[in-house]
Amino acid sequence: MDPDAEPLPTVVKYGGAALSPAMAQRAAEDLLGRTGPIVVVVSARAGVTDQLLSCLEPPFRTVRHVETVQQMRLEHPGLTPAGETQFQALERDLKRLRSEGRATPELSDRILTYGERLAASWFAGEIQRRGRPAQAVEADRLGLKTDGSPGDARVLLAASAARVRRGLTGLLGRGVLPVVTGFLGVSSGGRVTTLGRGGSDYSATALAYCLGWSRVELVKQSVSLRSADPRLVPGTRPVERLSFDEAEELAQFGAKVLHPRTMEPARARGMEVTIRSLEDPTQRTLVGPRPGPEPLRAITLLGPVSLLLLRVPGGRQRRGVLAEVSLALSTGGVTVATLYTSSALLCIVVESAQASRAQKLLKRFSRVEGATLEGPLPAALVTAIGEGLLSDLGRLPGGLPPLVLGASATNRTLSLAVPADRGLEVLRALHRNLVERREAPGG
Ligand code: ASP
Ligand code: MG
Repeated sequence: MDPDAEPLPTVVKYGGAALSPAMAQRAAEDLLGRTGPIVVVVSARAGVTDQLLSCLEPPFRTVRHVETVQQMRLEHPGLTPAGETQFQALERDLKRLRSEGRATPELSDRILTYGERLAASWFAGEIQRRGRPAQAVEADRLGLKTDGSPGDARVLLAASAARVRRGLTGLLGRGVLPVVTGFLGVSSGGRVTTLGRGGSDYSATALAYCLGWSRVELVKQSVSLRSADPRLVPGTRPVERLSFDEAEELAQFGAKVLHPRTMEPARARGMEVTIRSLEDPTQRTLVGPRPGPEPLRAITLLGPVSLLLLRVPGGRQRRGVLAEVSLALSTGGVTVATLYTSSALLCIVVESAQASRAQKLLKRFSRVEGATLEGPLPAALVTAIGEGLLSDLGRLPGGLPPLVLGASATNRTLSLAVPADRGLEVLRALHRNLVERREAPGG
């Protein structure tokens, strides 16, 4: 790289843990040490979204709400008057929650966004105090449009682009650093919607899309991407490069470091997305259009999930059966994590919280003569990910087959459903055989 070249315009997102009291100074210095056009995206400070979530749990008691707001004040010191008005708005929304006595999806979404709104005001203040003009920008006011589905909205990229670009380049043109709220957007009807837990990653690539920029950095406190969750598996390896497809599989199958939709805008524009650690600058992962030179092997654990086994006469070949089953589940509000089929058996994996609803919705298919419905069975999904994965089948640990309740595979993923209480063990065994032994001499 030419050291004198102008740095490329970059969207830099700081995660909640990178903005925690212990790390915030580092995050501010990290940012101020950079040159070139930058738009910052922030998550809520560590723990704040969870505090807001707890306010949404009944019973809605004034004391608890007041305590939470007080706690949040302590966590966002030195707010500007504009930031202060966020607290008043939050208090109003909490009051509405108490008087309505029910957390509607709309009100829940609104309340959950205060973490990001406060973080943006607070962090912009921190930057300004260090001598650089900065301004908090709320993504809904900026015009980041979503499809309006509460709690899990998709960003409408094309519909957002022009307004977002105008707003942000206006600030940049005046030499002001925009600090944009992650995790939220606004429906065409004007409703605030959140993008799902961890959604600020997705906000970052969506904003880069709108700006026509090709660089995004996702700054985490410590973990960048590793061959498995290091809290669960000893001996994990850093992953230096991977493709959008691989990253998407990782996120879908339970790696918590990335929001699954982050790759959609990135793929559409061929961006380079770097995930890096604030604590240790040598820990970084580059996600791009193509797989890295070393084949990726990473193992994820998703669970507990629930398994439902539907046997239908005529099986999967019966015309439209897969469509009918998925339609029944999705219109009933159940998200299918994955689905395996043999000829007669459909093995449907759903989040445990949705298991009994899924069971009810599937009942009507099991009433047909010869059909049966089994489950929900508590399970975990252990998934190995990386291009060319099926060439590793011979490396699978012995003793595994009796445990496996179902499996699905493409040449990029091999996903095993196992009993919920054996998930960790299978995760470690797959990691040993597919990652550690592969790298060992003669392995
Ligand atoms: N604050 C939100 C969450 O905790 C979004 C994010 O962190 O990206 O899920
Ligand atoms: Mg967070």
